[in-house]
Amino acid sequence: MAVKIDMDACIGCGVCEGIYPDLFEMGGDGKAHVKNVSSYDSGLAQDASSQCPVNAISVD
Ligand code: SF4
Repeated sequence: MAVKIDMDACIGCGVCEGIYPDLFEMGGDGKAHVKNVSSYDSGLAQDASSQCPVNAISVD
């Protein structure tokens, strides 16, 4: 798993969760979090990363 969210940058818009809810979820802190999954769709993760308005999501 190499998807990370920059918590300082995240503005809690929910775009990533909307694109890929199996991987991203909004937390009670108003920030997005990466779920603990064994595998993920890198295309969807890249899509969420590219559409994050503050470039907070990194995908390796
Ligand atoms: S799309 Fe970016 S700014 Fe919006 S909730 Fe996800 S990580 Fe945070």
